[in-house]
Amino acid sequence: MSERTFVPKVIKTPDEWRAQLNPAEYHVLRDAGTEPPFVGEYTDTTTPGTYACKACGEVLFTSEEKFSSHCGWPSFYAPTDNDKIRYLRDDSLPGPTRIEVRCATCDSHLGHVFEGEGYPTPTDQRYCINSIALVHQAS
Ligand SMILES: [Zn+2]
Repeated sequence: MSERTFVPKVIKTPDEWRAQLNPAEYHVLRDAGTEPPFVGEYTDTTTPGTYACKACGEVLFTSEEKFSSHCGWPSFYAPTDNDKIRYLRDDSLPGPTRIEVRCATCDSHLGHVFEGEGYPTPTDQRYCINSIALVHQAS
């Protein structure tokens, strides 16, 4: 599927998203904002369970792939399913191009994915995800 034809399954207007999300959630999920490090609700959470997109409820990550990266945000080495994630080049900051991670179901911003940092995980990837973009459901 080419980027040009990407159509999310869940489509809402900005006003509809604003009615559903609080301003801080809207800033991250719909305006690609970033919450400050080390303050997010799930940064150090180790409770077994799932992590769903706060905007649409799709389960994107689980505690199985969550690891302690000490970077200040919840970190996962893989999503539950690559098809649930949309990857986009992000040149908004100077320096190396980053890869933005969005929910493929509703096209909401989640965070970024970094590769080759040397974490002892099966993928050597770090999905650096804003807590505020997720809802944890303990299993
Ligand atoms: Zn979503």
